[in-house]
Amino acid sequence: MKNCSLIIKGKYVLTMDDKMSVFNDGVVAVDDDEIIAIGEKEILEKYKSEKIIDAGNSIIMPGLINTHTHAAMAYFRGLADDLPLPVWLEKHIWPAEAKYVNKNFVKKASALACLEMIKSGVTCFNDMYFFEQETASVASRIGMRALIGEVILDFHTPSCKTPKEALKKTEEMILKYKDSELISVAVAPHSIYTCSEENLSKSKELADKYSINLHIHISETEKENKDCLRDNEKSPVKYLDELGILNNKTIAAHSIWLDDEDIEIYKNRQVKISHCPISNMKLASGIMNFKKMRESGLVISLGTDGAASNNTLDLFSEMRACALLHKVNNLNPEIASATEIVKAATINGAKILGMDDKIGSLEIGKKADIITVNLNKPHLTPIYNPCSHLVYAVNLADVENVIVNGKLIMQNREVLGLDEDRILEEACKFKRN
Ligand SMILES: [Zn+2]
Repeated sequence: MKNCSLIIKGKYVLTMDDKMSVFNDGVVAVDDDEIIAIGEKEILEKYKSEKIIDAGNSIIMPGLINTHTHAAMAYFRGLADDLPLPVWLEKHIWPAEAKYVNKNFVKKASALACLEMIKSGVTCFNDMYFFEQETASVASRIGMRALIGEVILDFHTPSCKTPKEALKKTEEMILKYKDSELISVAVAPHSIYTCSEENLSKSKELADKYSINLHIHISETEKENKDCLRDNEKSPVKYLDELGILNNKTIAAHSIWLDDEDIEIYKNRQVKISHCPISNMKLASGIMNFKKMRESGLVISLGTDGAASNNTLDLFSEMRACALLHKVNNLNPEIASATEIVKAATINGAKILGMDDKIGSLEIGKKADIITVNLNKPHLTPIYNPCSHLVYAVNLADVENVIVNGKLIMQNREVLGLDEDRILEEACKFKRN
């Protein structure tokens, strides 16, 4: 018998590997940060551990990956609803950000967002906001995995007086976290309507210099497309492509108003997509062409966007919304199958972030980012297919345990080492002011 640091066992182990292997009465053995064995009961004859999580009637699966969010916007949850994106952004969010956002705000609001994400089974998130150093510190302290991007805008922001300063901060973070286990850094120009050609190009240069991701909003609204056509006589995708911005390290949030040529460009450049259906529906921004993009072989992952436009960071809701939206939009229930949607929230998320060698599925040699979902509930009984339940029946409160990088960070819904009451009280205090 070999010793290992952690053994997790339960009714189903859903690996999300290439073969979509599922082990009944499955076992995962973890040593330090890594999965060292996975399979059925026979694993227990080979490995022993002082720490065993017997999840019983549960699904053991890879942690969910939120590929587009603005964590600290958790404090603006419900601040302004039921408005078109330009009005929502210009009249409500930007003024609130100018008034309230500082280092301390981002630190506290990021803690709230991380708490919310852990409790809904998210083990890794891709973030873009101000004072991202604070978000990185919070995620790292709690033990979450994150891709962090200081947002780059043409104008003065709460964290940077100039885009040059934002690029400088980004480079400092790249160097600071180059050997980090949990934190990676992306260059994050906000969008074509808030970044000049010069700032977009400088962002790309920086991403190329360190061979890292570039995270940007693309074609989120019809207005963005119309304005770009008016000013540049081409679509946002063509505009970015001609600037040389797009490649297989581009993480494109939204990508709603794409025509066939744009989709072809995405395909040729292997652009990675973060699809945010709930935010898109709530702001009535439009419906991404899921069917066409999938048929083109593009990899689609899921993001919640910020809590100000969702209004939660819950990927289970996002999965369900995604499946239902594209079925009804195509009047075809075969579009966006449960399996495909669970892939979008796990292994595709890892592919989009360039982390699929490390996370996104439960396989030997991968990092142990694992969640357990308790099936002992009326709304999850009986069960024929784990993926079906994960998309159509599970809700975030069914997530019981969360492990990141081999470390247990939530046990029986208690987030370890975090004062949950204090985080909630701080958020209420902010709202009162
Ligand atoms: Zn966004």
